[in-house]
Amino acid sequence: MDDTLETLAGLLRAARSIVAFTGAGISTESGVPDFRSPGSPWTANRPIPFDLYMASAEARAEAWRRKFVMDDLYRDARPGRGHDALARLHARGRLRAVITQNIDDLHHRSGLPPEAIIELHGNGTYARCLSCDLRHEIDWVRRRFEVSGVPPACRDCGGIVKSATISFGQPMPEDAMQRAFGALVDCDLFLAIGSSLVVQPAARLPLIAQRQGTKLVILNREATPLDDAAHLVVRGEIGPVLDAVVKAVD
Ligand code: NAD
Repeated sequence: MDDTLETLAGLLRAARSIVAFTGAGISTESGVPDFRSPGSPWTANRPIPFDLYMASAEARAEAWRRKFVMDDLYRDARPGRGHDALARLHARGRLRAVITQNIDDLHHRSGLPPEAIIELHGNGTYARCLSCDLRHEIDWVRRRFEVSGVPPACRDCGGIVKSATISFGQPMPEDAMQRAFGALVDCDLFLAIGSSLVVQPAARLPLIAQRQGTKLVILNREATPLDDAAHLVVRGEIGPVLDAVVKAVD
């Protein structure tokens, strides 16, 4: 391992309470594209903002069409080395929680227990009624949409059904935000992994942690706006880096 990774391994060994904050970059190794890398299919299938989704049946139909295109691209995605390394760190009692901006369910599939996962932007592997909150499976929505050309209403109350993700313009989930702030209490090492750190309000969390005296480590393949605030910046590929440093603290 080079000096930077030795330093990171040392920080992991010395920490009492570690929180990881993950973005789309941890899942690219699994074949799930991130937003901002060149040629991303998210550009052609941009998520529809919340106000448009609520305002127009046409926008809702388009949102589902785009979602199904993206789902077909990464339906079979499996956790990568980064997800697995964080699950190992948690299993050894070193990682308190993973706060994730991702909607791809891969932290769950890596074996991290649900109580250690805080999904700030929801989860795209199921849907919910926006009126009564009833869970609907994506396959159920898709079958009905493909037969009728119209996204189905809630099977219980007739409300608008939406993928259980937080769209641009949609209020943040209060419960997840509360849990995220709770995880920061007593956290002495905050690992920001694979995020461009520009999507607000999620990207404020690393800065809030840093300002309360927590050591901030940023692991990303390109620069972020918070690099100057970080105790350590690791510029590299998430899978190999996390795999190596977590093995080194085992
Ligand atoms: P982002 O796309 O803005 O940034 C990802 C960052 O990760 C980039 O800076 C990129 O250079 C870096 N990166 C990509 N692969 C990497 C690798 N293998 N090793 C090291 N660095 C790598 O992602 P974001 O900050 O999470 O914000 C995007 C928003 O879009 C979030 O709100 C998220 O909900 C959503 N989103 C989620 C997914 C997902 O669930 N997997 C995918 C795309 C977008």
